[in-house]
Amino acid sequence: MTNTSAKIRFKQCVYDWATKLDVQVAWLGVRPMQNKWASCSTEGHLNFNTELLNMDEEVWNYVIVHELLHFSVPNHGKLWKSLMRLHLGEYEVCEAALQKRAQKLHTAVDEMADNRQTVWCLSFTKPGAQQ
Ligand SMILES: [Zn+2]
Repeated sequence: MTNTSAKIRFKQCVYDWATKLDVQVAWLGVRPMQNKWASCSTEGHLNFNTELLNMDEEVWNYVIVHELLHFSVPNHGKLWKSLMRLHLGEYEVCEAALQKRAQKLHTAVDEMADNRQTVWCLSFTKPGAQQ
């Protein structure tokens, strides 16, 4: 499978979930990112790391649903967790897979930081990198 066809499948997967979750995606990008798996903003902008294309579709679903739910729930609280459970079941397995991958990329999963305008999450930071 070439990276291009993986990207097309990934994007299709995002739009399928967006339809299922009744979310409007204004912008969808898949590009190399230094220290994040994905990011979303309150304007409906979504970006995903191309590194994800090398991973299992289960992980895709995790990252996609994780971000899309932030359009309505901008944190990782109880509501967000129960929605994740509802759509994905044992989503912690994918979380662990992503952390392992991040470590393999010489990185560590970082705490998310959100502000009013943009919700950055699923970020990871290289050891020693500037914050
Ligand atoms: Zn998040």
